[in-house]
Amino acid sequence: MHYKIVEKSLFARIARMVLKSSNVAMVIGNKIHLSGVDKHTFERDEGWLAHELCHIRQFQEHGYFRFLWLYLKESYNVGYYNNKYEVEAREAGSKHKRHQAATKKETGNVKPSGLPLPSDVKKEV
Ligand SMILES: [Zn+2]
Repeated sequence: MHYKIVEKSLFARIARMVLKSSNVAMVIGNKIHLSGVDKHTFERDEGWLAHELCHIRQFQEHGYFRFLWLYLKESYNVGYYNNKYEVEAREAGSKHKRHQAATKKETGNVKPSGLPLPSDVKKEV
């Protein structure tokens, strides 16, 4: 899949300050904006990468502005955690876990941030 990574993104940094989180990955179109995590660390984390790539696919599938609208509407209706686009991305991210010998039942530790954009934080292990 075609995607671009923006390290030390200003957008992601603002999100990070709002969220008081140590890291944020935020997808806008085909770009993954990072703050608090570098490209290398992020791409090595297959589950996290798969989660954000799923958001990129959603942007492509629904169209840029239409997806932003749908995402916002979905969050408004059912909340960020149950937002179907987040549910789908979490599933995409947790598939990788199954290949690895992980025994945890948890579906990945990437959490939607609650912002009106597909942005996610990763809990420190
Ligand atoms: Zn997400």
